[in-house]
Amino acid sequence: MSVIVIIPAAGSGSRFGGNIPKQFQQLAGKPLIQHVIERFLLDANVSRVIVPVAEMLLGSVKNSERVTFIAGGATRQQSVMRGVAAAGEGAELIAIHDAARPLFSTSTFHAVISAARDAGAALPVIPVTDTIHVMTNGATVAETLDRSMLGAAQTPQCFRPDILRDVLERAASDGVTAATDEAGLAARYGYLVKAVPGDPRNLKITLPEDLAIAESYLEQWSEES
Ligand code: C5P
Repeated sequence: MSVIVIIPAAGSGSRFGGNIPKQFQQLAGKPLIQHVIERFLLDANVSRVIVPVAEMLLGSVKNSERVTFIAGGATRQQSVMRGVAAAGEGAELIAIHDAARPLFSTSTFHAVISAARDAGAALPVIPVTDTIHVMTNGATVAETLDRSMLGAAQTPQCFRPDILRDVLERAASDGVTAATDEAGLAARYGYLVKAVPGDPRNLKITLPEDLAIAESYLEQWSEES
């Protein structure tokens, strides 16, 4: 299997605060993004890793045989589009993974690969345990969604390259530029998108306190293995 992995890492991480975007924060002795890249490089299915980063950082990162840093875009979706352009032809599948999720498991990645081989597009999903309200101006509750119909999307998400290119092109020509994941775009344009069980430990580092949680999960992992 040849999978090209795109890790969009060009965000500013405004919710995290501080001067260093969250994906470059230190986690257990190395930058978060390095954990993510190294975990993918260990996987024999992965032929290449492409990492869109803020243009100003390109001078301070180093490409290697299987890792290429490129300039990201103004939104996550645009960073992914640049990654797909850099991927060229030849991969059987393209995986997209948030730079801020250092705790994805190999078994989740392999389940997503296998589902995407069957269906064309796949992602990990976890059930929503909180009650989710639609808010008015973030201040008052307008409507409550039926929780049993909701799923929280995680990454890695995996796609046949022709599907991913098609939905990104159609989204751009429809003026959709700020999609927060590609599985949603694929579903929007009528493709079957298969869900595999996500993992609650595969959290997206968003706030400074998430780093301590991630560090304790990493310790648990090294004790388990
Ligand atoms: O902001 P959020 O956590 O949803 O971002 C998800 C991922 O998309 C992060 O890894 C972030 O660095 C990346 N991103 C990007 N280019 C942007 C905005 C976000 O690569 N312009």
